Amino acid sequence: MSTNPPSPICPICNYDLTGIPLDDTNHTICPECGEYIEPTTNRALSRQKLTQYTNSILLVFGIFCVLGVILLGALIYFIFIIIPGLSW
Ligand SMILES: [Zn+2]
Repeated sequence: MSTNPPSPICPICNYDLTGIPLDDTNHTICPECGEYIEPTTNRALSRQKLTQYTNSILLVFGIFCVLGVILLGALIYFIFIIIPGLSW
């Protein structure tokens, strides 16, 4: 099974085009948005890599946002609850 191309993704709607059959001109019609796609071109491949890269950035950014909110909540809790309760 070495004939499988890398799984292409629609550049318009990011629909996973894996398993969508090619027509006789080696193109794919996206079933989601109807875009006419060349899955074997570098453009589609680089778009896919860019999408994966963007997803990684968004994932890291989301983790930092969650951590930031937790730390901010802990800080606010510490400043307004713990410190006034110390009564020094
Ligand atoms: Zn699409």
